[in-house]
Amino acid sequence: TLFGDIALSKKTAAAITAMGFEEPSPIQSQTIPLVLAGNDVLGQAQTGTGKTAAFGIPIMERITEAKQIQALVLTPTRELAIQVSEELAKIGKFKRIKTLPIYGGQAIERQIRSLKLGVQVIVGTPGRLLDHIRRHTIKLDNVRILVIDEADEMLDMGFIDDIQSILQHVPSERQTLLFSATMPSEIMALANKYMKDRVTVTI
Ligand code: AMP
Repeated sequence: TLFGDIALSKKTAAAITAMGFEEPSPIQSQTIPLVLAGNDVLGQAQTGTGKTAAFGIPIMERITEAKQIQALVLTPTRELAIQVSEELAKIGKFKRIKTLPIYGGQAIERQIRSLKLGVQVIVGTPGRLLDHIRRHTIKLDNVRILVIDEADEMLDMGFIDDIQSILQHVPSERQTLLFSATMPSEIMALANKYMKDRVTVTI
């Protein structure tokens, strides 16, 4: 598969070219069409395989420029939140889409100001996201795509309960993507509870 074989808008295709990507990686050629077709995807993939763009490309294709949070990506660490947010911003560079990283350790007032300006994609760590939910400074009612990235790391860091609390504030009518390098029973339980008609992609 080439990127040209996947039906992408001109804006997304141009952004991918600008990033220097020529061919999709195996996780990308399998995942992108499934997500574009509306499936829930359980992806077993390590970092370095191109998994960020595997969910980032179809997310940027599917969301609109309406100033509502339409996609939420959960990451275990602030470093990953920043890195994923930067990659999503590059993929969405030719669309009027704002991607905001939300993580602990950064001044919350600043995050609240950025949220008020209107963003379409949030990439955040669980603790700080819950903080915003409790303060009513974030509104997740319009989220249509949810990504749980590095789920096994989330488990190791003790974030599973936080994730379940966050999911109570995201519409159940949505697409869910879960990526993990390993699939321990706790992650399979999470997938069974929160994903519908999922397709598993293993690379
Ligand atoms: P990730 O596994 O998402 O952390 O990606 C690893 C690195 O590969 C990142 O620097 C990406 O920008 C890069 N990358 C992802 N997909 C491709 C691709 N199709 N072609 C070239 N580089 C890529």
